[in-house]
Amino acid sequence: MAYEAIWMDRDPKELHKVEFDKMKKDGLDVIRTIIEKYSKEGYVSIPDDEFNRFKWAGVYQQRPNDGYFMMRIRIPSGIMTSEQARALGKIAQDYGRNLADVTTRQAIQFHWLRIEDIPDIYNRLEAVGLYSYEACGDCPRTIVGNPLAGIDPDELMDTTALVNEVNDFFVMNRDFSNLPRKYKMSISSNKYNNAHAEIQDLAFTPAVKVIDGEEVIGFHIQVGGGLSAKPYLAQPLNMFVRPEEVLKVAIGVTTIFRDHGYRAKRHRARLKFLVDDWGAEKFQEELEKLIGKMPERGEDKTAGWQAAYFDGVHSQKQESLRYIGLNVPVGRLSGDDFLELAELADQYGNGSIRTTISQNIIIPNVPAEKVDELLKHAIFNKFSPNPSRFMSRTVSCTGIEFCNLAIVETKERARKVAQYLDEHVKLDEDIRIHFVGCPNACGQKQIADIGLQGVLLKTPDGMKEAFELYVGGILGPGAQFNEKLKGKVIADSVAPALAHIANYFKENRLEDESFHAF
Ligand code: SF4
Repeated sequence: MAYEAIWMDRDPKELHKVEFDKMKKDGLDVIRTIIEKYSKEGYVSIPDDEFNRFKWAGVYQQRPNDGYFMMRIRIPSGIMTSEQARALGKIAQDYGRNLADVTTRQAIQFHWLRIEDIPDIYNRLEAVGLYSYEACGDCPRTIVGNPLAGIDPDELMDTTALVNEVNDFFVMNRDFSNLPRKYKMSISSNKYNNAHAEIQDLAFTPAVKVIDGEEVIGFHIQVGGGLSAKPYLAQPLNMFVRPEEVLKVAIGVTTIFRDHGYRAKRHRARLKFLVDDWGAEKFQEELEKLIGKMPERGEDKTAGWQAAYFDGVHSQKQESLRYIGLNVPVGRLSGDDFLELAELADQYGNGSIRTTISQNIIIPNVPAEKVDELLKHAIFNKFSPNPSRFMSRTVSCTGIEFCNLAIVETKERARKVAQYLDEHVKLDEDIRIHFVGCPNACGQKQIADIGLQGVLLKTPDGMKEAFELYVGGILGPGAQFNEKLKGKVIADSVAPALAHIANYFKENRLEDESFHAF
């Protein structure tokens, strides 16, 4: 049955008003309207009720809604070529005030775009096989994965082709362009959970199983994870998935979400709410009605969590080659930086450049003997493979600079706080600090050692930007979200407050005690 038939049969009371807008015009249709109408007739020609649909085009209005847009580019698994990186750098230079951010879904985000620029940007992206389509909206978003796929000594298999297969199936697929809410998938075979499985709607994680006397490399799956104001950890299903069945399973889970997911309240529409209500067992029964009975779980191969940090020079599975993890402070680069990194990736590597969920960049496939020469280039003073401790572990969402939902400024503040901590605290252990500008948690506050969420605080001197503090988030075995501390900290006092926490930890920790266990 076509999906329209299913949700049009529902009691209208079960449908949020956004659902009626989605029925009127599919989100994907806005792409053509942008190209053929709005880009020609200008910002004033865009009706108010159309802006929500822009998300399907990968485009958001930029704060303060005066004619500029943000655009997010899907980079499946974070793997791009130097040709693609050059195209991104040129777009940033020509249209985006030379600015590009790496997001926590390994995507690239531009700002300052005008509606007139979008068709040319689409053309430039398409020419190098990149797309912004469905990087936002109620649809399958960028598929995150292991940025080390294909070069990773700690992966069971190279997942590049699988991620591309699933990405290519879902992008612009009108059977799945109207989901109840955003939908996030990850596919990784890395043992250290490089794709943050527990916070995805659907995650494929590494596993092996003996089938007919032979050990098969495949995946376990988890469903129903997600952050935002009410975070959930994904629940494992009792199923082993062979690589050739990944797409089938992804289609099955997405179909359940499309046909049974909640569409009445926007804040209760993510897959996590359906999974929580049904439970893993019922979810699996419904899934197997669609895809057939699956083998039971095998041996889980997730051994820990490295939080998707890779700074430094590391050996690849190809013995003579190295990958170099670079710190990109709070994920922000210029178009010029992209062009220079693309040049260096061509000159010293094989042209591949990778983005990480931690908002950083990797240059892989550098012959061991060329590493020293590569690292002499001045750009590595800015994007260091040996970054200072706090700057290397600070993540930030977009915040009030560009985001319409933000309550406070985040990015520049996060950078300054990290600088302060590096100057004032000497620690022999990393503390991961995540800033978000509102409860939506794009900066993944809940999984940080210290998460900071922006709020406004009434003071005798008027309303002031402040932050709630949360401590103790972790993924991998023993995953848990962080817990809120009492009170709020005025924004100007965040740096000394975090220094105090870090120093208290330093002075009171037991031998070898980590911040998380403290
Ligand atoms: Fe905007 Fe909030 Fe997301 Fe930050 S967390 S980018 S402020 S919606």
